[in-house]
Amino acid sequence: MKAVILAVGEELVSGQTVDTNSPHLAAGLAPHGIRTVAHHTLPDERGAIARGIVEAAAEADVVLVTGGLGPTDDDLTRQALADAMGSELVLDEACLRELEAFFRRRGRDMPPANRVQAMVPAGAEPIRNELGTAPGIAAMVGRARVFVLPGVPAEMERMFAAGVEPLLPAGGGAIVHRVLHTFGVGESDLAPRIADLMAPRDANPLVGTTAKAGVVSVRISARGGDAPAAEGLADRTAAEVRRRLGEWVFGEGEATL
Ligand code: AMP
Ligand code: MG
Repeated sequence: MKAVILAVGEELVSGQTVDTNSPHLAAGLAPHGIRTVAHHTLPDERGAIARGIVEAAAEADVVLVTGGLGPTDDDLTRQALADAMGSELVLDEACLRELEAFFRRRGRDMPPANRVQAMVPAGAEPIRNELGTAPGIAAMVGRARVFVLPGVPAEMERMFAAGVEPLLPAGGGAIVHRVLHTFGVGESDLAPRIADLMAPRDANPLVGTTAKAGVVSVRISARGGDAPAAEGLADRTAAEVRRRLGEWVFGEGEATL
């Protein structure tokens, strides 16, 4: 199964805020066997977000969108999702009651602007937000399951764990990542020794290299029917990489020089 992740926010596109939501979600999908094939960062523009959702839904089984669910005029993700579904926003009475209760608990009246947060596209389902006011949304666009989550990282993380992971399609198996670190060899000298493991690019395990400050790392991503199967594949490939690269390999995972 494949996923595309969309991060929505002018502050992300302009480079003022670093997108931390997408890496968190990609890592969270892997144990479910769902491989993230693209991250896209989109501005707060209704048309761009709607097109992004439609294109992602054509490419992937699962689409995760974060950001743009706030109560203000620059938060357009729910309208864009309705456009992508060819549907209209409708008020969800249960959501409205939860929102009003959220403000009551804080001794405040709900500002009228927040009412829009209780709107979901017809045919979609709200996802509870335990930490903030913006409910998430679960919907189908074509054959893809689309989940829209708040931009605020803490709210996004909680909602993904509590409200999205239980709804993810089962049977995707598991994906396990391993990283071996080397020192003393350049990427272009190292790569030919594992070239057969690095091709083709849809191989399983998928093997690639990255270089940073003198350390060349070999990344291994293995997909299997379940976690032990994926780990077995990753272990065998990691052992083969170690055999070929010998004492250049100084560590794995979090290990540093
Ligand atoms: P929003 O829901 O789009 O109004 O975002 C609310 C807050 O979450 C803003 O302060 C954003 O900068 C932050 N935020 C939104 N998307 C992301 C993201 N992908 N990574 C990190 N922070 C984000
Ligand atoms: Mg925003």
